[in-house]
Amino acid sequence: MSKGRIFSGMQPSGKFHLGNYLGALETWVKLQNEYDCFFSIVDWHALTSAYEDTSKISDNIYEMALDWLSAGLDPEKNVIFVQSQVKEHAELHLLLSMITPLSWLERVPTYKDKLQQLGAMGKEINTYGFLGYPELMTADIILYKADTVPVGEDQIPHLELAREITRRFNNLYRPVFPEPQASLSQAAVLPGIDGRKMSKSYGNEIPYAAPPDELRARVRLMVTDPQRVRKTDPGNPDVCTVYTFHKIFNKEETTDIETNCRHAGIGCVDCKKKLAENMVVALADIYTRRIELEANPKRVREILAAGAERARKVAAVTMEEVRSAMNI
Ligand code: SF4
Repeated sequence: MSKGRIFSGMQPSGKFHLGNYLGALETWVKLQNEYDCFFSIVDWHALTSAYEDTSKISDNIYEMALDWLSAGLDPEKNVIFVQSQVKEHAELHLLLSMITPLSWLERVPTYKDKLQQLGAMGKEINTYGFLGYPELMTADIILYKADTVPVGEDQIPHLELAREITRRFNNLYRPVFPEPQASLSQAAVLPGIDGRKMSKSYGNEIPYAAPPDELRARVRLMVTDPQRVRKTDPGNPDVCTVYTFHKIFNKEETTDIETNCRHAGIGCVDCKKKLAENMVVALADIYTRRIELEANPKRVREILAAGAERARKVAAVTMEEVRSAMNI
């Protein structure tokens, strides 16, 4: 029994790493059995902060579709599509922009932060599109009358704004949309191999769907307890990146590893080997599915086309209601 309808999207901004997978995609794979899900590769959103060089966007969309499908998102159960292939997103975005006070957009806490952050990196994003990012996000969600949106803590202000815009539309014209609710995802946070936040810009990532040998090589490079110099020194798993990964990929042995580490009963080399083999097994399906999909690009494109077709049908019905409510 479906609990309701979900909309969620991701920007196609380059290759995934394992942290991205555990951060969002793994949650989606679980949600697909409980909700009626619309998952969109939101390419127009990618343009709000990276509009100058669009040369890679098409490849990134394709890579993202491969990643999603190899994670186990089922195109039969879910509507999987590319945002720009459903033009109704743009129409609803435009109409919502007519009713949204500018101050609502300007007060989103992440807006000024990001403006500064990206400005410091030399990006000129003082644009109408960037300011209107939450507006477009609102259109994405309510176009499908989604009642639930899986979000991380940092996206709650965006969703709050989406709810406000939705309320304003419903009050001004007539109730067309449900107010979307946040479903806070409790995803595991994976550090990079050097213990900092996993990020491609730090070069500390573990690639998503990496071949087994690459996984093993990345695990070998992981930082451990820096105080543990010799195998006979007792270690402290609480400060060890390898141990953090054990807690996610080798739950059954976590207690043993902890005890052995603290009593110098296991060396770091062996501890890493154990972790690597557990990760190879845990991620084997993803790796195999990605290889199969890579060999069949036509299939991937067909899935996206069929998803867009299904999304358009739902979007067209909503837009009929919207135009009628607004007398246009
Ligand atoms: S034994 Fe394992 S948990 Fe302990 S410091 Fe070495 S790698 Fe980390």
